[in-house]
Amino acid sequence: MGNLINNELVYTVKDRCRVCYTCVRECPVKAIKIVNGQAEVISTRCIGCGNCTKVCSQKAKTFIDTTAPVYDYLKGENITVACVAPSFPAEFSEIEDYKVFIGMLRKLGFTYVVEVGFGADVVAKEYKKTLEDKDAAKFISSDCPAIAYYVRHYHPELINSLAPIVSPMVAMVRIVKKKYGENIKTVFIGPCIAKKAESTEVDQVITFMELRKMFIESQISQENIIPTDFDPPIAGKAAIFPVTRGKLHSINKSDDICDENIIVASGRIHFREAIKEFEEGLNKSQHLELLCCEGCIMGPGMTSNSKLFTKTTNIRDYVRTKLQNFDTAEWRKEYELVKDMDFTQTFIPADRRIPMPSAEKIKKVLESIGKFTLQDHLNCGACGYDTCDEHAIAIVEGLAETEMCLPFTIEKLHNSVKDLNLSNEKLASAQQSLKQTEKLATMGQLSAGIAHELNNPLGIITMYSNILKDEAPEDSPINKDLDLIVEQAERCKKIVGGLLNFARKNQVDLVETDIFKFTQHSLESIIVPDNVKIELKSTLTNPFAFIDNDQWMQVLTNIEKNAIEAMPNGGVLKIELNQSNGDVEFCIGDNGCGISNEDMDKIFTPFFTTKPIGKGTGLGLPLIYGIVKMHNGQINVDSNADLAIGPTGTTFKIKIPRNKNQ
Ligand code: ADP
Ligand code: MG
Repeated sequence: MGNLINNELVYTVKDRCRVCYTCVRECPVKAIKIVNGQAEVISTRCIGCGNCTKVCSQKAKTFIDTTAPVYDYLKGENITVACVAPSFPAEFSEIEDYKVFIGMLRKLGFTYVVEVGFGADVVAKEYKKTLEDKDAAKFISSDCPAIAYYVRHYHPELINSLAPIVSPMVAMVRIVKKKYGENIKTVFIGPCIAKKAESTEVDQVITFMELRKMFIESQISQENIIPTDFDPPIAGKAAIFPVTRGKLHSINKSDDICDENIIVASGRIHFREAIKEFEEGLNKSQHLELLCCEGCIMGPGMTSNSKLFTKTTNIRDYVRTKLQNFDTAEWRKEYELVKDMDFTQTFIPADRRIPMPSAEKIKKVLESIGKFTLQDHLNCGACGYDTCDEHAIAIVEGLAETEMCLPFTIEKLHNSVKDLNLSNEKLASAQQSLKQTEKLATMGQLSAGIAHELNNPLGIITMYSNILKDEAPEDSPINKDLDLIVEQAERCKKIVGGLLNFARKNQVDLVETDIFKFTQHSLESIIVPDNVKIELKSTLTNPFAFIDNDQWMQVLTNIEKNAIEAMPNGGVLKIELNQSNGDVEFCIGDNGCGISNEDMDKIFTPFFTTKPIGKGTGLGLPLIYGIVKMHNGQINVDSNADLAIGPTGTTFKIKIPRNKNQ
């Protein structure tokens, strides 16, 4: 096993990761980094506990498969020894007689099948010696390899507190080598991933999961198996080892709770707390009995990581039955043979801590995820870190990303949606005005053609009607008809004139103009009835703007005329000139009849008019629209025609840039 190191045990299956951050949350050492949308294991920080493989619903985290070298051993010449972890009854609960399970291992090709439970017996006795020595320094149990790695990497100052005793696996390997020869190949089979990198003394380590795979590949099932018992040495009470407090039970240290000088902690949260408090010196008189999982029976190499209590019962039942037919004398004989062997080991520190970033850097990161005050720290844990501070530190350390903060990301998303809606609205209005412009351009071409063709015949009609009128006697009844012809021809000319205006070339001749005076002048060139009051106001500090004088005069007079026509019973025509940034705004309002909602969409369409025949041509507003656009401006209408809603009236707001090329 010497060629595997703890940090190459667990890895990510590419593209399976859906970035739910569950593995980040469950990793006790934060050895997971989000890179390119994948939660990757940072091998140098990993302690091989395999928590991430247990919690990932997408099976995106997996551990290294070492069945290939085991097959090689089984096919080879060497004596092969299967060292079975005492947790096997919790995994293979479907096999009623454990002897059938041993038979299956033999069928797979193992020469000997031994119980690591005997190694656990030996190790438990070593621990007992220390526990009963009142002067011995307080230790942290070291038989869980993930715990040993945790201390070596993250609490290297406590290295001397790790009990210098080998694990049951290594003890058993030493024992079987003594018993069956140094050249044997040992294969540990258990529930643990970290064991794969625990020691160079064992040749290979596979999990129960991998063993099941080998049974299937080799077509080995319970059928036609000759049941046999384990090869010696047979385990004693320490077969209970894999449940929480198992080691203590096996040395009768779990009975008197008041007498105990041991703190027992298991699981990813409690073991860290216990070590932290141990380091702080809070439990000076206490040894620490620690397991990274909730007992080895919950290890990541088990096929299922649920049913803790059923698994505990399975182990208890196995141990109870075992102890009923237990040959104590035989066990003692075996123990006497090994009790003086060396079961010690040393641990070397391997510091993997990242220095704490400066408060300034952490603050900056917190602000970048919208955490300005303590109230902003929701500590919701969605990112996988317990607190916002921890998340920020991880970001500075390059282990995490800002997007992992769910409340921040949701807010960002909301803002993007708002921005998108705004752009959509702008786009829709741009599209609308483009359509209008296109329509006007087509209309313009058509109008120009028609107007041109009509002008001559109209002139002829008017001329000849007038000649006929002159020639006809004064009292002739034909005069009335001729008047009508002249009047209608004049009307036609007016329409044609409008059409020609509308079809004018798309050009503006911009001249710097005092627009207050210009507006005053526009009011002078229209006929204002007595019942209409005019209010002209300007907030302009600078009255000058660039406009095409002829065209702008048409804009103003047309809007003013429309307003007056909308107030047949009198009213107020209000004109305000304002400025905003680089624009000037004309605000022309009346309190006339207003424009109904359904007409609103049509008012800029050529020939749309609500006025009686002879009064309106429906060409005023389309013309205005075109001129405003040529000035790079905008025109908006606000109107109410429904008294039930409020006072009626219409306001046109026209904005144009004050300067050329703006
Ligand atoms: P015309 O004045 O020849 O009808 P316009 O293009 O100037 O053509 O106006 C189109 C229509 O818009 C008008 O017929 C009228 O229904 C409506 N309109 C324009 N300005 C006003 C206003 N100030 N108040 C009420 N309706 C208006
Ligand atoms: Mg008009």
